[in-house]
Parts: sequence; structure tokens; C-alpha cells
Amino acid sequence: MDRMRFITKTRGELDGFKEGVVIVPIGATEQHGPHLSVGVDSLLVETIALHAAEALSPRLPVLVVPTLPYGSSHHHLSFGGAISLRSETLIAVLKDIGLSLAESGFRKLFFLNSHGGNDEAARLVVRDLAREGISAAAASYWTVAWDALKEAGALDFGRVPGHAGSFETSLMLYLFGELVHGRPPLREEDNPREEPARRPFVQLPGQGVGKDGYTDDARYASAAKGEQYFRIVVSRVVQAVEEFYRQI
Ligand SMILES: [Zn+2]
Repeated sequence: MDRMRFITKTRGELDGFKEGVVIVPIGATEQHGPHLSVGVDSLLVETIALHAAEALSPRLPVLVVPTLPYGSSHHHLSFGGAISLRSETLIAVLKDIGLSLAESGFRKLFFLNSHGGNDEAARLVVRDLAREGISAAAASYWTVAWDALKEAGALDFGRVPGHAGSFETSLMLYLFGELVHGRPPLREEDNPREEPARRPFVQLPGQGVGKDGYTDDARYASAAKGEQYFRIVVSRVVQAVEEFYRQI
């Protein structure tokens, strides 16, 4: 898997990838309930990106740059454990990453996001980079996989992606089981079943994340579900990156 990493190449070796796609994973460092580590989003998106790149590599040149481990997480600061960039900082950082890559000859960039709070910033940056002659795309991994995850029943057990609920806990159990510490207290609630982007976006002053920092009950989370979700997500990311590449 290391061969898919941008940072394992010499500058000469990088020349061979300039016509291909560079995946830029965008993570976050923020609390994930009482049971998951603060690096969930960064860990998941890097693993998804590397597996997708591996699957794509026979068909197109592709590399994964280091995951941005910080995102827009101000709504998590009150819990402790968050390292957050202001919106304008995040946009500036993503833009600089894109412009640096372009300066080196990489002009097909796919920003793969794993934290809801980063979604708008990534899309804005893609618009701005296009004005600089750079082809770019931005997607949150659950958005490109939404239909397939829904079909697989992921919504029957909690929110997708939610925060530190059934979905993320399942992925962590499968990929990083040693970082899952039991389950948070159980609770009953109705989970919205439509894609988050289809609802009005509402933020209230001082509003935290769910109750006690997680959005839904993780009692049905399992490594087996995590494996199923992971395979779906990777295959949909592969499809999205390939479609992006073919349309340039
Ligand atoms: Zn998360």
C-alpha cells in the first residue's frame, strides 16, 4: 500500500504520475464520543484513499498525498481533544496544497473528505482551483457511496455517516478494532434517513454534536458491517475518481 503514497516517491519517480490523479484526503482531529479515538476521520479517509488508489492503479496513474489531519471542527472544541482550523484557514490550506501540486505538474486533483464540517470548504476550493486551470473534484466518501450504503441497509442501524454512531463505529471495528473502547451508553432515537445534503443546514450558537458528542446508538455496530461498508465505500470512490479522470 505504501507504493500508493506520494511521499514514498523521489521527485524523478513523481514525474511518471503527472498525467494521473492525485487524491488529497481531508481528515479531522476531534472527539468521537467516549469510545472512539479522536483521529477516526483521518484514519478512515487515509485507509479508504489508499485502498481506492490500489484498485485504480492498474488502470490509471494515481497517488495519495498525506492526509490533512485537521479540519473545521469548532463545534467539537467544547468536548476537548479537537484541533480545529477556522474555515478561512482550511480553505487557504487546501488551496495551497492544490496550487503546490499544480506547480509540480499535477493538475488532476481529487479531494476526498471524511468530515462533514469540511465539505463546503473543499467544494469552494475546487471552484477556485478550476479558475487557475486545475481540474479538481471534491467529495465526502459517504456521499459518493450513499445509494449503495442505503441499499446495503446501513441506514437501518443509524445515521450515515452520523458521528461516532453505528456507521463509524462499524468501520473502526473492522479497520482499527484496537482503537474502539466498548460502546457508548445506549439510547433510543429516530434517525433521519435522507441524505444530509438534502436537509436545510442549521447551526445554532453553542450547539455541540448530538448528545454527549455522538449522534446515534452504536449498539448494532460490528466489524462485519464495517467490512461491508468499507468495501462499498472503496468501490464507489474508485468509480468516482475514474469518472473524474475520464472526463478531463
Ligand atoms: Zn467522524
